[in-house]
Amino acid sequence: MAQAFSAILGNEAVKARLTRALRDGTLPHALILSGPEGSGRRTLARELAAALFCLRRGEDAPLPCGECEACRKVREGIFPDLHVIAPEEGKTTIGIARIRELRAELALTANESTHRVFIIERAEAMNAAAQNALLVSLEEPPEGVVILLITESEEALLPTVRSRCQLLRTELFDAAALERHLASNERFATLARRSPERAEALLESAGGCLGRALLLLDEGKMAEVLSEREAVDAVIRALGARGSAELFSALRLLPSTKREELTEALALLSDALRDLILLKRDPTAPLVYYYDRETALTLAESVGIQRLFRLSDAVAEAEDDLSRNANVPIVLSTLLYAVAAR
Ligand SMILES: [Zn+2]
Repeated sequence: MAQAFSAILGNEAVKARLTRALRDGTLPHALILSGPEGSGRRTLARELAAALFCLRRGEDAPLPCGECEACRKVREGIFPDLHVIAPEEGKTTIGIARIRELRAELALTANESTHRVFIIERAEAMNAAAQNALLVSLEEPPEGVVILLITESEEALLPTVRSRCQLLRTELFDAAALERHLASNERFATLARRSPERAEALLESAGGCLGRALLLLDEGKMAEVLSEREAVDAVIRALGARGSAELFSALRLLPSTKREELTEALALLSDALRDLILLKRDPTAPLVYYYDRETALTLAESVGIQRLFRLSDAVAEAEDDLSRNANVPIVLSTLLYAVAAR
């Protein structure tokens, strides 16, 4: 059997491991897919389900084939033996009642396939009671059942849950890999030809997430992100100047009316500050905001660590206030005041 999951880019080690397990019939009945948002956990979980259900499995075809009725239904989210559990709309937790329902579903038999797959999205949202209720099912699920827990951090799950599952870690793309994968995308190729700077800015803004890169290829979204990055870059440049007047002016250019826009801009600013603080200690530290390490190193050298920490603290406070629904202009003026006072 050739490598399965050829339709998915990246996460080579995880794909190879799952391919071997499918070929040898050693796929564990409980798996944790752990990795950052945008690293392909959900896609992998669905493709794994499709591989188990695929009607052309065992034939000389890609696995999953992506074309048979089972693959098509998985893609459309209507395959009856695939169950997805996530926090309900407006809720942040998955409670014990939902896990009891899942256990009742586990006791039933498959509809169309020899397998049944249960995907628990945001598994860390299960409270302790819910996780405990799941233990027996993880230990000895009925024949043919595979349970996939998706999480940003397996550390947030109970040790008893972790010990019953095989752990697979998914990773974001590095900038070079992302660029390679996007090279075959017509819109990206056109952008790279017409405006190499914008193509580079897109790679930076995608933060290693292919899905986000594809979203950014949409012109409107790209323009919005670029203007946010410009605002953040201006703040960082001003941070290197003496006194607080320039910084004050740069901060005033942050989006000041829409909550969502200010939240995004502050998140970017906090990523940039984090990069610079880390670079002061370790020039090889992994970066989340900057794409070009040399630029980042030069900036890090131009700003004192105390100044970085002070702004970083003030931004964290502003983010906190925003998340508590504080009035947007007030959050921004509090931030300005904090900067001016220091
Ligand atoms: Zn198929």
